[in-house]
Amino acid sequence: MNRWTRRKFTHLAGAACLAPFCPRVARGQAKARVVVVGGGVGGATVAKYLAASEKGLDVTLIEPKPSYTTCFFSNLYLAGLRSLESLTHSYETLAQKYGITVIHDMAEAVDPVAKIVALKNGTKLAYDRAVVAPGIAFRYSDIEGYDEAATQSLPHAWNAGPQTKLLREQLESMEDGGVFVITAPPNPFRCPPGPYERASLIAYYFKQFKPRAKILILDAKDSFFEQDLFQDGWSRHYPGMIEWLPSQFTGGIKAVDVKGRAVKTAGGTFKAAVANIIPPQMAGELAQRAGLVDQSGWCPIDPLTFESKLQPGIHVVGDATSAGDMPKSAFVTNSQAKVCAFAIATALTGSEAAEPHLFNTCFTFLAAHDAVSDAISFKATAETIKISEILLSAVGEDAELRRQVVRTANGWYDAFTHDVFG
Ligand SMILES: Cc1cc2nc3c(=O)[nH]c(=O)nc-3n(C[C@H](O)[C@H](O)[C@H](O)COP(=O)(O)OP(=O)(O)OC[C@H]3O[C@@H](n4cnc5c(N)ncnc54)[C@H](O)[C@@H]3O)c2cc1C
Repeated sequence: MNRWTRRKFTHLAGAACLAPFCPRVARGQAKARVVVVGGGVGGATVAKYLAASEKGLDVTLIEPKPSYTTCFFSNLYLAGLRSLESLTHSYETLAQKYGITVIHDMAEAVDPVAKIVALKNGTKLAYDRAVVAPGIAFRYSDIEGYDEAATQSLPHAWNAGPQTKLLREQLESMEDGGVFVITAPPNPFRCPPGPYERASLIAYYFKQFKPRAKILILDAKDSFFEQDLFQDGWSRHYPGMIEWLPSQFTGGIKAVDVKGRAVKTAGGTFKAAVANIIPPQMAGELAQRAGLVDQSGWCPIDPLTFESKLQPGIHVVGDATSAGDMPKSAFVTNSQAKVCAFAIATALTGSEAAEPHLFNTCFTFLAAHDAVSDAISFKATAETIKISEILLSAVGEDAELRRQVVRTANGWYDAFTHDVFG
């Protein structure tokens, strides 16, 4: 057993990963190759944990963008409380400190039989195990008139970067008294509290700079996560500013009129000064092309290893997965990625299998000094992943406790992005 490797991996993996790690790749033997597609939270975490702990593996990370801007905390940017630069992370440490080969390109296909990942630039990379972590794609066809071109007028801002910047610019140039419309998608989707946190933080911005503005949330659902906490926050901080219309009223989001800046629902047409269309979602395109997606639009996985149930030898982590009770969050993605890294190490080097530990912790802002949190632990079995314990903030907590959650959230952001990107 390689004790150095075992100590280092368990140290890095923290409480989520406590099992022994015993590589079996013999000296001089060619290194086993892991190709990770997608340098978001999921892909970067798997690549880092494998490369940092296991010298017997050759780890390659494929990501088209030169740097990664986090969706988490991007609503604070929309409120003018953080810069986009403070949310942007480079791949330099992963390459230089951990020795990961980072290739900035798109993966176009994964051939599970030949075990090859094909890149847009024509390169073909052979793998022993592949990880696909492409995040989400949008079901544009579910909303008539909305497509990729329309996102330049009516942004989704559900992948952070240029879309988030565009939405912020539109909010800044919106007249006071205008209506900001957000469409909230049906389940399952990336970040269940996200649309409602966005409404809260944009209301925080409006309250200071455009106090006559209104926010209208047109929802495809009849209820949403932490609804009581949000509605309590809205009545305390922004009375009369935010209106939420559930599906039983809207009848669902049917179409957009891009030129007229309007959203059409079964219950009526709503004109907006600024419209944020968050479409229904599915697994990222590469997962679809690689045959990793079932009829639900998401990737079924083995809950104990995150290996695809459809394509052996390919693992899927993050928002693209269908993972039982687990919501689509960065924390969940990072937790899945560590379990996946352990499973790949076990398969390729013979290290002892580890029991999966899966968690979620989420901090959600209602205002600059008022945040709530949830902490969930999960139990994975061969069949599925179920919630085993859940802790939530409560309505009526005192203001100092909520300020403390804001401080904890800021500390979490720094520690978490360090864990992912080095
Ligand atoms: C507004 C908002 C707020 C949020 N707040 C929180 C929060 O507070 N806490 C929290 O835990 N989560 C939060 N989330 C959710 C979190 O951002 C996601 O769950 C997380 O990013 C999922 O990670 P991922 O790796 O699956 O996907 P991503 O982070 O989207 O990464 C996917 C990567 O794959 C790359 N890629 C895609 N296709 C290819 C290809 N063919 N070849 C190569 N690369 C490819 C993409 O460029 C991208 O970099 C929030 C999300 C939003 C939208």
